[in-house]
Amino acid sequence: MNAGMPRDVAGVGMTSQRTRARMVERLRDAGIRDAQVLAAMGSVPRHLFVDEALASRAYEDTALPIGFGQTISQPYVVARMIEALAAGRELGKVLEVGTGCGYQAAVLAQLAREVYSVERIHALLERARANLRGLRLSKLRMTHGDGNFGLEKAAPFDSIIVAAAAPALPQALLRQLAPDGRMVLPLKSPDASHGAQRLALYERGARGITQTVLEAVRFVPLETGKL
Ligand code: SAH
Repeated sequence: MNAGMPRDVAGVGMTSQRTRARMVERLRDAGIRDAQVLAAMGSVPRHLFVDEALASRAYEDTALPIGFGQTISQPYVVARMIEALAAGRELGKVLEVGTGCGYQAAVLAQLAREVYSVERIHALLERARANLRGLRLSKLRMTHGDGNFGLEKAAPFDSIIVAAAAPALPQALLRQLAPDGRMVLPLKSPDASHGAQRLALYERGARGITQTVLEAVRFVPLETGKL
């Protein structure tokens, strides 16, 4: 046991390495194939990113509330998006829009050369910083801002991942995508009356941008402005 540690970093009981290994097994059963993604999902202590009262549910395949009306993404969706983003190549320099509690940023930091994460809610960003402190992820930089504008000062990015659903592709993000870069984001369907969303994948190839539409998902909305 880690006497004096405020949270269960090493992990016991419902928050142990074994619970995490079972989550990885379920991800594999659900179709996640990328061994590096599975290893990263197995290494990040997800229970540290949710409220202590919810820690025992942290490894269920479900989204959970993180305050401010926001949620931590479901493990399957995090793994699926990162797998689609990587597609077997190196992630390189990554931009994440929507830090939330910092969980996905921590997973990305296991895999990428550099990770920049932008969050519009200042108080949530502070919480993410606190959650991440013990993990000492030197490759990860967090910024308070409106991710609709990307992060000009660090662009271009080899990979861009958006954790909130946009009505349309933010053009600044497309501009900040490097040659051969890939971007994955949830888009609201044009007939969004049912709140339907789909994951979309964009690739910047030699002949321009290609779009592939992936499965249906459910994300909180991509908002505008800072709080
Ligand atoms: N990546 C998180 C998911 C957080 S939910 C995880 O690991 O679970 C989505 C987050 O996107 C919320 O924190 C929300 O505040 C943020 N968000 C919404 N619109 C945004 C915008 N325009 N710029 C930056 N962050 C935004």
